[in-house]
Amino acid sequence: MSLTVIGHMNPDTDSIVSAIAVADLLSKRGMAAQPAAQGKPTPETEFVLKKFGLSAPAVTDDVAGKKLWLVDYSDIAQAPKGLAEAEILGIVDHHKLGDVTTPNPLEVWTWPVGCTGSVIKAMYDFYGVEMPKGIAGGLLCAILSDTVMFKSPTCTDLDKKAVDALAKIAGVSDVMALGMEMFKVKSAVEGASMKDLVFRDYKDFDMGGKKVGIGQLEVVDLSILNPVKDGLYAEITKVKSEGRHSVFLLLTDIMKEGSEMLIVSDDPAVVEKAFGVKAEGRSVWLDGVMSRKKQVVPNFEKAFK
Ligand code: MN
Ligand code: MN
Repeated sequence: MSLTVIGHMNPDTDSIVSAIAVADLLSKRGMAAQPAAQGKPTPETEFVLKKFGLSAPAVTDDVAGKKLWLVDYSDIAQAPKGLAEAEILGIVDHHKLGDVTTPNPLEVWTWPVGCTGSVIKAMYDFYGVEMPKGIAGGLLCAILSDTVMFKSPTCTDLDKKAVDALAKIAGVSDVMALGMEMFKVKSAVEGASMKDLVFRDYKDFDMGGKKVGIGQLEVVDLSILNPVKDGLYAEITKVKSEGRHSVFLLLTDIMKEGSEMLIVSDDPAVVEKAFGVKAEGRSVWLDGVMSRKKQVVPNFEKAFK
Protein backbone atom coordinates (compact mmCIF):
# COMPACT_ATOMS: atom_id res chain seq x y z
CA MET A 1 0.00 0.00 0.00
CA SER A 2 1.31 3.40 -0.86
CA LEU A 3 2.20 5.94 1.81
CA THR A 4 0.29 9.16 2.43
CA VAL A 5 2.24 12.25 3.46
CA ILE A 6 0.05 14.82 5.18
CA GLY A 7 0.52 18.16 6.94
CA HIS A 8 -1.49 19.84 9.70
CA MET A 9 -5.03 21.26 9.77
CA ASN A 10 -5.61 24.61 8.07
CA PRO A 11 -2.57 23.85 5.90
CA ASP A 12 0.00 26.56 5.24
CA THR A 13 2.62 26.64 2.50
CA ASP A 14 5.09 24.59 4.60
CA SER A 15 2.52 21.86 5.28
CA ILE A 16 1.57 21.54 1.62
CA VAL A 17 4.95 21.86 -0.09
CA SER A 18 6.60 19.63 2.54
CA ALA A 19 4.02 16.91 1.85
CA ILE A 20 4.79 17.15 -1.88
CA ALA A 21 8.55 17.05 -1.24
CA VAL A 22 8.56 14.17 1.25
CA ALA A 23 6.28 12.12 -1.04
CA ASP A 24 8.79 12.72 -3.88
CA LEU A 25 11.75 11.76 -1.69
CA LEU A 26 10.06 8.61 -0.33
CA SER A 27 9.06 7.54 -3.84
CA LYS A 28 12.67 7.98 -5.01
CA ARG A 29 13.79 5.88 -2.02
CA GLY A 30 11.55 3.13 -3.42
CA MET A 31 8.50 3.70 -1.20
CA ALA A 32 5.57 4.83 -3.32
CA ALA A 33 4.02 7.86 -1.63
CA GLN A 34 1.30 10.44 -2.31
CA PRO A 35 1.02 13.94 -0.83
CA ALA A 36 -2.26 14.91 0.83
CA ALA A 37 -3.60 17.98 2.62
CA GLN A 38 -6.30 18.69 5.17
CA GLY A 39 -7.82 21.44 3.07
CA LYS A 40 -7.37 23.60 -0.01
CA PRO A 41 -4.31 25.82 -0.46
CA THR A 42 -4.49 29.43 0.78
CA PRO A 43 -3.95 32.20 -1.81
CA GLU A 44 -0.28 32.35 -0.72
CA THR A 45 0.19 28.63 -1.30
CA GLU A 46 -1.70 28.79 -4.62
CA PHE A 47 0.73 31.49 -5.74
CA VAL A 48 3.71 29.29 -4.78
CA LEU A 49 2.34 26.14 -6.45
CA LYS A 50 1.59 28.02 -9.66
CA LYS A 51 4.93 29.82 -9.70
CA PHE A 52 6.87 26.55 -9.47
CA GLY A 53 4.57 24.27 -11.49
CA LEU A 54 3.45 22.08 -8.56
CA SER A 55 -0.03 20.57 -8.17
CA ALA A 56 -2.10 20.91 -5.02
CA PRO A 57 -2.25 17.63 -3.07
CA ALA A 58 -5.54 15.75 -2.82
CA VAL A 59 -7.68 16.90 0.12
CA THR A 60 -8.10 14.12 2.67
CA ASP A 61 -10.03 14.36 5.94
CA ASP A 62 -9.94 10.74 7.07
CA VAL A 63 -6.75 8.67 7.26
CA ALA A 64 -8.13 5.49 8.89
CA GLY A 65 -6.29 2.44 7.58
CA LYS A 66 -3.56 4.46 5.82
CA LYS A 67 0.22 4.32 6.24
CA LEU A 68 1.31 7.87 7.07
CA TRP A 69 4.17 10.29 7.20
CA LEU A 70 3.34 13.50 9.09
CA VAL A 71 4.93 16.79 8.06
CA ASP A 72 5.01 20.08 9.99
CA TYR A 73 3.29 18.73 13.17
CA SER A 74 3.20 15.82 15.57
CA ASP A 75 0.17 16.82 17.68
CA ILE A 76 -2.96 14.68 17.63
CA ALA A 77 -5.02 17.91 17.78
CA GLN A 78 -3.56 18.91 14.38
CA ALA A 79 -4.14 15.51 12.76
CA PRO A 80 -6.97 14.32 10.51
CA LYS A 81 -9.77 12.02 11.60
CA GLY A 82 -8.92 8.33 11.79
CA LEU A 83 -5.34 8.81 13.04
CA ALA A 84 -5.84 6.16 15.73
CA GLU A 85 -6.64 3.63 12.95
CA ALA A 86 -3.66 4.70 10.81
CA GLU A 87 0.00 3.65 10.98
CA ILE A 88 2.55 6.45 11.38
CA LEU A 89 5.86 5.54 9.72
CA GLY A 90 7.61 8.90 9.80
CA ILE A 91 7.54 12.49 11.03
CA VAL A 92 9.34 15.55 9.65
CA ASP A 93 8.78 18.64 11.75
CA HIS A 94 10.18 21.75 13.43
CA HIS A 95 7.71 22.25 16.30
CA LYS A 96 7.83 21.01 19.87
CA LEU A 97 7.40 17.26 20.00
CA GLY A 98 3.70 16.45 20.05
CA ASP A 99 1.70 13.61 21.51
CA VAL A 100 1.43 11.01 18.72
CA THR A 101 2.71 7.56 19.63
CA THR A 102 3.36 4.45 17.56
CA PRO A 103 3.52 0.72 18.28
CA ASN A 104 6.46 0.33 15.85
CA PRO A 105 9.80 2.09 15.27
CA LEU A 106 9.58 5.07 12.92
CA GLU A 107 11.78 7.58 11.09
CA VAL A 108 11.67 10.96 12.83
CA TRP A 109 13.37 14.12 11.61
CA THR A 110 12.47 16.98 13.93
CA TRP A 111 14.88 19.89 14.22
CA PRO A 112 14.66 23.23 16.05
CA VAL A 113 14.75 25.30 12.84
CA GLY A 114 12.41 27.80 11.21
CA CYS A 115 10.68 25.53 8.71
CA THR A 116 10.08 21.87 7.85
CA GLY A 117 11.42 22.75 4.38
CA SER A 118 14.91 23.25 5.84
CA VAL A 119 14.86 19.76 7.38
CA ILE A 120 13.70 18.28 4.07
CA LYS A 121 16.62 19.89 2.22
CA ALA A 122 18.93 18.07 4.64
CA MET A 123 17.02 14.80 4.03
CA TYR A 124 17.55 14.99 0.24
CA ASP A 125 21.25 15.61 0.89
CA PHE A 126 21.46 12.74 3.41
CA TYR A 127 19.88 10.26 0.96
CA GLY A 128 21.81 11.65 -2.03
CA VAL A 129 18.61 12.29 -3.97
CA GLU A 130 18.54 15.11 -6.52
CA MET A 131 15.78 17.61 -5.74
CA PRO A 132 13.48 18.65 -8.61
CA LYS A 133 13.61 22.36 -9.49
CA GLY A 134 9.91 22.97 -8.72
CA ILE A 135 10.14 21.36 -5.29
CA ALA A 136 13.23 23.47 -4.50
CA GLY A 137 11.27 26.62 -5.40
CA GLY A 138 8.31 25.52 -3.27
CA LEU A 139 10.46 24.70 -0.24
CA LEU A 140 12.31 27.99 -0.64
CA CYS A 141 8.96 29.84 -0.41
CA ALA A 142 7.89 27.72 2.58
CA ILE A 143 11.04 28.81 4.44
CA LEU A 144 10.53 32.48 3.50
CA SER A 145 6.92 32.21 4.67
CA ASP A 146 7.56 30.39 7.97
CA THR A 147 10.52 32.63 8.90
CA VAL A 148 8.78 35.81 7.63
CA MET A 149 11.72 36.42 5.31
CA PHE A 150 14.25 35.61 8.06
CA LYS A 151 12.76 38.16 10.51
CA SER A 152 11.08 35.65 12.82
CA PRO A 153 13.00 34.66 15.97
CA THR A 154 12.45 31.05 14.85
CA CYS A 155 14.84 31.57 11.92
CA THR A 156 18.25 29.86 12.19
CA ASP A 157 21.45 29.86 10.12
CA LEU A 158 20.43 26.49 8.79
CA ASP A 159 17.28 28.04 7.28
CA LYS A 160 19.35 30.75 5.59
CA LYS A 161 21.80 28.18 4.21
CA ALA A 162 18.92 26.05 2.96
CA VAL A 163 17.44 29.07 1.16
CA ASP A 164 20.77 29.78 -0.57
CA ALA A 165 21.06 26.18 -1.75
CA LEU A 166 17.39 25.92 -2.80
CA ALA A 167 17.55 29.24 -4.71
CA LYS A 168 20.43 27.83 -6.78
CA ILE A 169 18.50 24.65 -7.61
CA ALA A 170 15.29 26.57 -8.39
CA GLY A 171 17.07 29.27 -10.40
CA VAL A 172 15.79 32.11 -8.20
CA SER A 173 18.21 35.07 -8.35
CA ASP A 174 16.41 37.53 -6.05
CA VAL A 175 15.08 35.67 -3.03
CA MET A 176 13.83 38.76 -1.16
CA ALA A 177 11.90 40.04 -4.20
CA LEU A 178 10.20 36.65 -4.45
CA GLY A 179 9.42 36.83 -0.72
CA MET A 180 7.84 40.29 -1.03
CA GLU A 181 5.78 39.15 -4.03
CA MET A 182 4.51 36.20 -1.96
CA PHE A 183 3.73 38.31 1.14
CA LYS A 184 1.79 40.80 -1.01
CA VAL A 185 -0.40 37.91 -2.17
CA LYS A 186 -0.73 36.77 1.45
CA SER A 187 -1.75 40.30 2.54
CA ALA A 188 -4.71 40.54 0.17
CA VAL A 189 -8.06 40.27 1.96
CA GLU A 190 -10.44 41.12 -0.90
CA GLY A 191 -12.94 38.39 -1.64
CA ALA A 192 -12.18 36.34 1.47
CA SER A 193 -14.86 35.76 4.11
CA MET A 194 -14.13 36.63 7.76
CA LYS A 195 -14.19 32.92 8.51
CA ASP A 196 -11.61 32.25 5.78
CA LEU A 197 -9.35 34.95 7.20
CA VAL A 198 -9.61 33.78 10.83
CA PHE A 199 -8.97 30.13 9.92
CA ARG A 200 -6.32 30.80 7.27
CA ASP A 201 -3.63 30.13 9.88
CA TYR A 202 -5.41 29.03 13.05
CA LYS A 203 -4.63 26.47 15.76
CA ASP A 204 -6.43 25.25 18.87
CA PHE A 205 -4.38 24.51 21.98
CA ASP A 206 -5.04 22.87 25.34
CA MET A 207 -3.69 25.30 27.91
CA GLY A 208 -4.07 24.26 31.53
CA GLY A 209 -7.18 22.29 30.58
CA LYS A 210 -8.72 25.22 28.67
CA LYS A 211 -9.35 25.28 24.95
CA VAL A 212 -7.57 28.28 23.47
CA GLY A 213 -7.57 29.25 19.79
CA ILE A 214 -4.80 31.37 18.25
CA GLY A 215 -4.93 32.62 14.67
CA GLN A 216 -2.49 34.77 12.75
CA LEU A 217 -2.66 36.98 9.67
CA GLU A 218 0.60 38.36 8.31
CA VAL A 219 0.49 41.49 6.18
CA VAL A 220 3.02 43.90 4.71
CA ASP A 221 1.11 46.84 6.27
CA LEU A 222 -1.49 46.65 9.07
CA SER A 223 -3.65 49.35 7.46
CA ILE A 224 -4.65 46.69 4.89
CA LEU A 225 -6.72 45.11 7.69
CA ASN A 226 -8.55 48.29 8.83
CA PRO A 227 -11.64 47.61 6.70
CA VAL A 228 -12.02 44.06 8.08
CA LYS A 229 -11.02 44.47 11.74
CA ASP A 230 -14.59 44.73 13.08
CA GLY A 231 -15.60 41.69 11.05
CA LEU A 232 -12.61 39.70 12.29
CA TYR A 233 -13.47 40.59 15.88
CA ALA A 234 -17.09 39.47 15.39
CA GLU A 235 -15.85 36.22 13.83
CA ILE A 236 -13.45 35.34 16.69
CA THR A 237 -16.23 36.18 19.17
CA LYS A 238 -18.32 33.55 17.39
CA VAL A 239 -15.45 31.04 17.37
CA LYS A 240 -14.95 31.57 21.10
CA SER A 241 -18.65 30.96 21.77
CA GLU A 242 -18.22 27.46 20.29
CA GLY A 243 -16.77 26.06 23.53
CA ARG A 244 -13.46 27.92 23.87
CA HIS A 245 -12.06 29.83 26.86
CA SER A 246 -10.23 32.33 24.65
CA VAL A 247 -9.55 33.17 21.03
CA PHE A 248 -6.66 35.43 20.05
CA LEU A 249 -5.99 36.71 16.55
CA LEU A 250 -2.52 38.05 15.76
CA LEU A 251 -2.44 40.72 13.07
CA THR A 252 1.24 40.78 12.25
CA ASP A 253 2.89 43.68 10.44
CA ILE A 254 5.97 42.11 8.88
CA MET A 255 7.57 45.46 8.05
CA LYS A 256 6.99 47.08 11.49
CA GLU A 257 7.89 43.73 13.09
CA GLY A 258 5.13 43.46 15.65
CA SER A 259 1.58 42.25 16.08
CA GLU A 260 -1.74 43.70 17.10
CA MET A 261 -3.56 40.95 18.97
CA LEU A 262 -7.38 40.88 18.99
CA ILE A 263 -8.64 39.39 22.26
CA VAL A 264 -11.81 37.52 23.19
CA SER A 265 -11.46 35.72 26.52
CA ASP A 266 -13.26 34.69 29.69
CA ASP A 267 -10.22 36.13 31.48
CA PRO A 268 -8.67 39.00 29.46
CA ALA A 269 -6.17 39.62 32.31
CA VAL A 270 -4.31 36.54 31.05
CA VAL A 271 -2.90 38.74 28.27
CA GLU A 272 -1.18 41.09 30.72
CA LYS A 273 0.04 38.08 32.67
CA ALA A 274 1.52 36.59 29.49
CA PHE A 275 3.06 39.69 27.90
CA GLY A 276 3.33 42.31 30.63
CA VAL A 277 1.29 44.83 28.62
CA LYS A 278 -2.23 45.90 29.41
CA ALA A 279 -4.85 45.42 26.71
CA GLU A 280 -6.77 48.51 25.69
CA GLY A 281 -10.29 47.50 24.90
CA ARG A 282 -10.37 44.58 22.52
CA SER A 283 -6.74 44.52 21.43
CA VAL A 284 -3.10 45.05 22.36
CA TRP A 285 0.02 45.96 20.36
CA LEU A 286 2.88 43.51 20.97
CA ASP A 287 6.08 45.10 19.74
CA GLY A 288 8.56 42.66 18.20
CA VAL A 289 6.14 39.73 18.40
CA MET A 290 6.01 37.86 15.09
CA SER A 291 6.05 34.16 15.96
CA ARG A 292 3.03 32.38 17.42
CA LYS A 293 5.14 29.30 18.10
CA LYS A 294 8.08 30.97 19.84
CA GLN A 295 6.70 34.21 21.30
CA VAL A 296 3.00 33.67 21.88
CA VAL A 297 2.19 30.03 22.68
CA PRO A 298 4.90 29.59 25.37
CA ASN A 299 3.87 32.85 27.13
CA PHE A 300 0.22 31.85 27.17
CA GLU A 301 1.06 28.32 28.32
CA LYS A 302 2.82 29.81 31.37
CA ALA A 303 0.04 32.33 32.02
CA PHE A 304 -2.69 29.68 31.83
CA LYS A 305 -0.95 27.30 34.25
MN1 MN B 1 2.83 25.04 9.46
MN1 MN C 1 6.26 24.98 9.40
